[in-house]
Amino acid sequence: MSNEERLELAVTIDKQLAYLLQEIEATSERLEPVATQCSNSDPQRAEQMQNQEVIYKNFAFAKRRYNSLLEAKKCLSKEDFGLCEVCDETIAFERLLLLPETKQCITCAKENFL
Ligand SMILES: [Zn+2]
Repeated sequence: MSNEERLELAVTIDKQLAYLLQEIEATSERLEPVATQCSNSDPQRAEQMQNQEVIYKNFAFAKRRYNSLLEAKKCLSKEDFGLCEVCDETIAFERLLLLPETKQCITCAKENFL
């Protein structure tokens, strides 16, 4: 991987980290336990709980991705960054731009997914 590509990836990772941080902060403000004793009717309470579940899933997903990106940022300067952990081939740069935290090329990722 060229230095220009590493630099472009570093910028991309920083942008995604900043975006995710906003996401995480915004969702954590909306995360609150649904009261067990409340004057709301049961259907209302069920809806509240469902909403909280969706918010929590988004929150957990954003946090996981944030940590993976931080990890990718740390590894960016390593010589083997951008090589597939399965087949050792170069991961397409376009794929890394979309998913800088990926450790597999598209071929291996597809095989492991099926
Ligand atoms: Zn591979």
